[in-house]
Amino acid sequence: MDSNIKLLLLKTLYYSGFIRVWSFLNKNKITILTLHGVMDAGLETEWEPLRPRPSRKLFDDTLSMAVRYFNFVSLDEAIGMLKGVTPVKPNSCVVTFDDGQLNNLAVAWPILKKHKIPVVFYPTTGVLNRGEPYWFDRLDFAIQQPGLDGLEINVGHSQVRIDQSSKQRLAGSLSKLTKSLKLKDQSDSDFQREVNDIIGDFENRSGKSISDVGSGDLWSSPMSWDDIVQCSTIDGVTIGSHTVNHVRLPFASEGDLTVELIESKSVLEERMKLPCTHFCYPNGDWDAHSARAVEDAGYESAVTTDVGWNEVGDNLYTLKRYSFPVGGTALKALFSITGILHFISGLRKG
Ligand SMILES: [Zn+2]
Repeated sequence: MDSNIKLLLLKTLYYSGFIRVWSFLNKNKITILTLHGVMDAGLETEWEPLRPRPSRKLFDDTLSMAVRYFNFVSLDEAIGMLKGVTPVKPNSCVVTFDDGQLNNLAVAWPILKKHKIPVVFYPTTGVLNRGEPYWFDRLDFAIQQPGLDGLEINVGHSQVRIDQSSKQRLAGSLSKLTKSLKLKDQSDSDFQREVNDIIGDFENRSGKSISDVGSGDLWSSPMSWDDIVQCSTIDGVTIGSHTVNHVRLPFASEGDLTVELIESKSVLEERMKLPCTHFCYPNGDWDAHSARAVEDAGYESAVTTDVGWNEVGDNLYTLKRYSFPVGGTALKALFSITGILHFISGLRKG
């Protein structure tokens, strides 16, 4: 369908009061939103990732509308409701950011604060210790450097060709490469080794790496330990764990699984002098075994990237979320985070 017609349809639905009816019908559902960062493209920064982020304006405008339909609550409040300990506030919504990147605090937090919206940041403690960007940002930077066009990389049974002829095509190459690596049947430590080898090869070929970009780069820098400790004292900010090394739990050895869950929790607690009771699965990957391990490690909740709402009585270790869109209009983003677009796409598939 033409995008103008789609927008017209959304506007018609919006002004007809449809969201009010939808919200009333689903008032007992608890929404959790996933974000990774908020950043404006096209600024005079040294680089931009191929994987986009919602802009300040999109985030701000969407939240300006969303506050009319949602009760934004902390994760602790939402967990209390899901357990049935406290009554459900109609249309409760929790905002979460995975990975603990610096732009979460520097760019997104002032906007959230303006709207009086609480937030959860999930950093990984290994990245906090090293103070270096995640592998996915290193890879994103490395693949954009000159001299890699046409390069073919074998990953398992698939071959990925780097196409640098346009930003869009390069983004396609990056996405295919990342997907092929994640689909390969291997342990997470082998996955991380292979990713490092590929990044190292790219960096050697171009002679450039993300470390050439100055520290404090808002696209890729993680928060520092000082930032995390400071955040933990702010009313409205919750810090949860996202493992030590961003390990995909179902692909981790038994020993690594325990270390990733327990060490990240205890190190965060030691630094913050506060309990760390919430967990976020790296890459959204979970299975029954890892969900049990998260519970055994003493966490109270864990969020996945499975799409949907949460209701009283749901398993607290497999909480579902909706992704906050990275582009488009604020109106479309509102339809997305209210679950309406997901419902419509389910109808069309079904
Ligand atoms: Zn992550």
